[in-house]
Amino acid sequence: MYWEKAIETMSREELKKLQEERLRQTILRAAKTPFYRKRFAQLKLDPEKLRTVKDLQYIPFTTKEDLRQGFPFDFLAVPLEEVVRLHSSSGTTGTPTVIYHTAQDLERWANQVARCLYMVGMRKTDIFQNMMSYGLFTGGLGMHYGAEKLGAMTIPIGAGNSKRQIWFLQFFKTTAVHILPSYALLLAQLIKSEGLDPKKDLNLRIMLIGAEPHSEETRRRIEELYGAKAYNSYGLSEMNGPGVAFECPYQNGMHLWEDYYIMEVVNPETGEPCQEGEVGELVLTTIYRDATPILRYRTRDLTAFIDEPCPCGRLHRRITRIQGRSDDMFIFRGVNIFPIQIEKVLMNIPEVGNNYRIILEREDYRDVMRIEVEIKSELFFGDLQKLERLRERIQAELRSEILATPEVVLVEPGTLPTQEGKAQRVFDQRKM
Ligand code: AMP
Ligand code: ZN
Repeated sequence: MYWEKAIETMSREELKKLQEERLRQTILRAAKTPFYRKRFAQLKLDPEKLRTVKDLQYIPFTTKEDLRQGFPFDFLAVPLEEVVRLHSSSGTTGTPTVIYHTAQDLERWANQVARCLYMVGMRKTDIFQNMMSYGLFTGGLGMHYGAEKLGAMTIPIGAGNSKRQIWFLQFFKTTAVHILPSYALLLAQLIKSEGLDPKKDLNLRIMLIGAEPHSEETRRRIEELYGAKAYNSYGLSEMNGPGVAFECPYQNGMHLWEDYYIMEVVNPETGEPCQEGEVGELVLTTIYRDATPILRYRTRDLTAFIDEPCPCGRLHRRITRIQGRSDDMFIFRGVNIFPIQIEKVLMNIPEVGNNYRIILEREDYRDVMRIEVEIKSELFFGDLQKLERLRERIQAELRSEILATPEVVLVEPGTLPTQEGKAQRVFDQRKM
C-alpha cells in the first residue's frame, strides 16, 4: 500500500527531526547563493544559528518577484556543471523564473512522484498516458520520470492532438492518464463525437488531474464521464512540479510530503500563521533539493491545512483543494470573487456543458460581468422558453454564490475558444 512505508507513516516527532536536519543543511546551502547571502547579511542573520522549524520565521518570505530579479543564477547553490536540467513556470510573461536540478534532485523528485502514483494505486502493470505538455513545464517530464520509476509503461504523448490521444487510449488500452481537468471535460466530448463512450469503450481506471484549480463538482463529473477515479495532483515549478501534494484513495485533501517541504499557511495580508481549517496562502520551503534551495516561498495558492490523521495511515499533513490564488481574485462592483466559485455553480448544473468563460467589461463606468456558458447540444436547439428559464436559473444560482449579478449568455457547445495549456477562464477587459 505504501511506496516508502517508513517515511510515509513516520511519526510526527520523527518527521520533525528529519525536517530540522534537512532544514539546517538547506539553510547552509542557501547561504551560498548570491540571493540569500545578501539577504542574510542585510538582516545580520547567522545561518549557522538557524536550526529549528521555528527559527524559519526569522527569514523573510521569498516571492516570485525575488525569483525573477534573481534571474538567471542568484538562487543557484551548486556549480553549474552539477546542474543537469532546468525548468520554468508556465505562462510567465517577461523574465521567467527558472529552477535548476542536479542529478540527485531529479532522482528525488522522481521518487516523490512515484510515491504519489503508488499511493493512488498505480502499479507496474499500468499503461500510463501523460497528456501534459513536455518541455519547460514540469507536468510533462516531472510526471514522466515518476511513472517510469514506478515501472508503468509510460506514453509521453504530450498535450493536445485529441484524435491521436483517443487512438492511443483505445489501441493501448491506457489505464491511467495525467490530464488537465479542463481538458478531461473537453476530451470526453470529443470522444463522444467519435461515437465512443469514454466509460464503456476505454479502459481508464486512474486519472491524475491537476495543474489548474478545479472544484469537487468538476472532479465528480470527470469521474462519471470516464468511469474512473480522479485524483487531485498539486505542484508548482518553483517547488519541483507535480508531486508536492497529492490525494490518497480517501480523496479527502492532499498529503503534502513533509520530508521534502516545510509547509506554512499564512494570512496573505499579514503573513501571520493560520489555524487549522483557516484558508490562507501556502508557503513552502524546500528541504530536499540541492541546486535551488528556496526558503519560505509564497505560492499565492489559497488552501487550509488539515491536522487530523488520515485513515490511510500517512502522517504527512493534508491541505484542502486549492481554492484559488491570492492573486486571481477579481473585484466586481466591490465584491471579491474567485473564478472557482463560478465554476462550482456551473458544474453542478447538469444542463451546463463543459466550457465557459467570464468576461469583465466596463460600460459607462459600470462593471459588467458576462458569463458565456456552453450548454448541452440537445437543449440548445430546443424550446426557447425553456432555454430562457434555464438562463435565469443559472443566473440566480450564480447570484446567490457570488453576491453579484452577472449577465449569462448560453452558447452552443464547442463554440467557446479552448486552449491547449491551462484553461483561461477570466478575460478582464476593464480599463482602470
Ligand atoms: P506551474 O509553476 O506553471 O506549474 O504552475 C503552478 C501553479 O498551478 C500553482 O501555483 C497553482 O496555482 C496551479 N496548480 C497546480 N496544481 C494545481 C491543483 N491541483 N489545483 C489547483 N491549482 C493548481
Ligand atoms: Zn490519506
